[in-house]
Amino acid sequence: MCIPGCREAVGRALSRRGFFGGVTAIAFTATPASAQRSFTRVIDLTHTLSPAFPTFFGVPGIEIERRYTLKKDGANVNWWYVLEHAGTHIDAPVHYADNGAAIDAIAADQLVVPLAVVDISAKAVRNADYALSRADLTDWEARHGRLPDGCCVAMHSGWARHASHTAKYTGKDAAGVFHFPGIHPEAAEWLAKERRVVGLAVDTLSLDPGSSKEFTTHTIWLPSGRWGLENLANLEQVPRTGATLVAGVPKVKGATGAPTRVLALV
Ligand SMILES: [Zn+2]
Repeated sequence: MCIPGCREAVGRALSRRGFFGGVTAIAFTATPASAQRSFTRVIDLTHTLSPAFPTFFGVPGIEIERRYTLKKDGANVNWWYVLEHAGTHIDAPVHYADNGAAIDAIAADQLVVPLAVVDISAKAVRNADYALSRADLTDWEARHGRLPDGCCVAMHSGWARHASHTAKYTGKDAAGVFHFPGIHPEAAEWLAKERRVVGLAVDTLSLDPGSSKEFTTHTIWLPSGRWGLENLANLEQVPRTGATLVAGVPKVKGATGAPTRVLALV
């Protein structure tokens, strides 16, 4: 925060930047970023969060109030009123277990992990209620080898393309039941017991299929100390295996979830 004297400080910083700008530009040209890192592409798996983004609860996931302005107060500053489970976001174990870890207690090394993408998009086109099955995981392993230890398994259903169309994205019917793909509880249980997977991710509103009443996948997965990511974008751009997922989770004390910037390094 810098309200008093802010304009003067910004002015000083800008004039310094002008002075050093030429030098910085030459340094970047001489050393391309790709020469310094072990990946060649960064894919953004994050939807832009706005009040219009569909939420499970049917209310805006964020309200944004411009309280300070550059003109009047010396800086532009917004206040947010935000639902923890809005937009592309993480579910912490405490979301489904009172004694589970909140987002601030998730270790950093659990948030940068190998990413395995399971593509069920062709099945989801035919059946909006499709649940990623154990057979889908077996098929993935037959093609790509055993799921890597410490990975995140992501369901690619193709649903991200419907995100700007709330009725299609939620699939809400006349009885108020949602219809979108999710992960079958048997698949979640197998991953929890038979493989060393730290996170589940989906490109829909919930780890469970929309028509679920019991949220069994949530109740198996989160209390086991693992995390979930919901509403991912752009999974069609990510190779099925070999990418690294980076989840930029805000470190908010006691939070059950939070809008999260999720990236895939390829
Ligand atoms: Zn959630």
